[in-house]
Amino acid sequence: LRDTTAATTLRSPAALRRLLSALAILEQREGKLNTGSLSAITAAKQLGGTIHGFVAGSNISAVAAESAKVAGVDKIIAVDSAAYDKGLPENYAPLLVANIKKGGYTHVIAGHTAFGKNLMPRVAALLDSQQISDITAIQDDKTFVRPIYAGNAIATVESSDAIKFITIRGTAFPAAAIGSGAATIEEGIDPKADTATTEWVSEDLAKSDRPDLATASRVVSGGRGLKSKEEFDRVMLPLADALGAAVGASRAAVDSGYADNSLQVGQTGKVVAPQLYMAVGISGAIQHLAGMKDSKVIAAINKDADAPIFQVADVGLVGDLFDKVPELTEKLGKA
Ligand code: FAD
Repeated sequence: LRDTTAATTLRSPAALRRLLSALAILEQREGKLNTGSLSAITAAKQLGGTIHGFVAGSNISAVAAESAKVAGVDKIIAVDSAAYDKGLPENYAPLLVANIKKGGYTHVIAGHTAFGKNLMPRVAALLDSQQISDITAIQDDKTFVRPIYAGNAIATVESSDAIKFITIRGTAFPAAAIGSGAATIEEGIDPKADTATTEWVSEDLAKSDRPDLATASRVVSGGRGLKSKEEFDRVMLPLADALGAAVGASRAAVDSGYADNSLQVGQTGKVVAPQLYMAVGISGAIQHLAGMKDSKVIAAINKDADAPIFQVADVGLVGDLFDKVPELTEKLGKA
């Protein structure tokens, strides 16, 4: 005999949503919430069901309070300990495992950021699950869409794991807004997971007053055509300032030392999808396109009319960048 009542109940979408519960991992740096990580909450909302947010670090109460204001979040789990400040995965993974076990979540979601990529596979492995990486869409609670082969093919994957561990592409899920939500804040389990196997020594961050590359609405990127770091700075930075844009770079420009590694756009750099992406002296190699081809408007300046970048550009200017960019910057200054 089959219990058809239960089967019917399980098939109903509303009943299914009631069974779903997602934990969104939120990032913080030095006591400040990384609002980009609120994309994980947007993804959790698309799943439906209960949504909890997770934050950890020292003096975490302000970050927890800010996160609790995101509409649609039911609860924020906060763990206050300096052991989790830098997100060292050796410490953070057992912390998450303890809290996931307690919460009984069906989905655990983090951004496909350096933090998420470092952490989630370890957590998934500890709970004997397979991670689903860098998704761009959710079809249902077990079916997800993700680009593969540097965005040249789109795979639809289905997971039968009891807990789905997912990293999401930030450009596909806009960050949830901090509004007037009133989630409860609960102290999470602290397994005192400071393994001491790794130690945070130091960090050397490129500080800039310009908009953040990953979230800016305008990006100007320079490539090998800029010829040197001096020329990159002389030509690209005034253009960025005239447009109020973030600065990006191709891998060739980064490898040649023209720009900082954190500015690299592409398959092995950042994935951006701004309103305007301007590629200057960039040929448009497939690995670069993988990081910017979803931009709303793509403009390119290149002296080679056959450069592949023009195949994806909405607006193209064939010419010498050393003439064209200063001219454009000057005109923007007057506009
Ligand atoms: P080039 O291909 O050398 O192009 C320079 C362009 O500048 C040319 O089109 C030229 O016509 C133009 N130019 C030169 N002088 C002028 C001038 N005076 N005025 C106007 N135009 C001028 N690349 C990335 O960018 N990001 C990645 O994340 C990335 N990941 C990779 C991962 C792997 C596994 C591999 C194998 C490669 C990866 N690459 C990546 C490298 C990629 O294949 C290209 O080598 C790189 O993108 C080329 O950079 P570029 O366009 O600046 O240089």
